[in-house]
Amino acid sequence: MNEQLLSDNISKLLQRVRLSAEKSQRSECDILVLAVSKTRPAADIRAAHDCGLLEFGESYLQEALVKMPELEDLDLTWHFIGPIQSNKTRAIAGHFDWVHSVDRSKIARRLSEQRPQDMAPLQVCIQVNISGESSKSGATLEELPQLVREIITLPRLRLRGFMAIPAATGDTRLQRQSFGRLRTALEQLQVIAPAMDTLSMGMSADIEAAIAEGATIVRAGTAIFGSRNR
Ligand SMILES: *Cc1c(COP(=O)(O)O)cnc(C)c1O
Repeated sequence: MNEQLLSDNISKLLQRVRLSAEKSQRSECDILVLAVSKTRPAADIRAAHDCGLLEFGESYLQEALVKMPELEDLDLTWHFIGPIQSNKTRAIAGHFDWVHSVDRSKIARRLSEQRPQDMAPLQVCIQVNISGESSKSGATLEELPQLVREIITLPRLRLRGFMAIPAATGDTRLQRQSFGRLRTALEQLQVIAPAMDTLSMGMSADIEAAIAEGATIVRAGTAIFGSRNR
């Protein structure tokens, strides 16, 4: 994509993050902007890196595995944020630094077993279904305590917190309600897992509400790269 446009998009996004942080008296340093690069060519990731972004999120394993070797000369941090089938865990464990979309213990166990010994532990978030729609993936709030207890025993994983993709709504009050539920869940379960420090929530359209409710990672695709054709 056009590099000037990309650079303008990134400046605008960082400005939104800065203003939202200020509004809730938070430090912008506590909020990581994850660039969601699914469907984007490696050249766009390289250009975003040249604008200062270092962390990239991918949802489709095969697509990510094609792009990664093209970018090997850059020091990027890769986050897997898509649905995980169990036959994909080995490749995910071998190529990513973070996984945001762990939603059941079988997947967590496989990721831990398959994480290569010469790599740092895999940083993981549990994806939580906070909107209660049966179609959306993610663990339910009821399943969460047990899943947290299991994952913190897995030697090759570091449980960092929770991720959510709430039902899309333009109503900022409802956005904040959903994100607030995830924050409350984290606060409650920090009693069992005090090392959890991450709320991965907020996408291009609802970053402000997410930051107001304590997001520490916001995942932005369209705000950086423009709309996707897929
Ligand atoms: C695609 C995607 C995003 C980015 O969404 P935008 O609306 O383009 O910012 C964030 N998180 C997940 C899990 C996604 O799949």
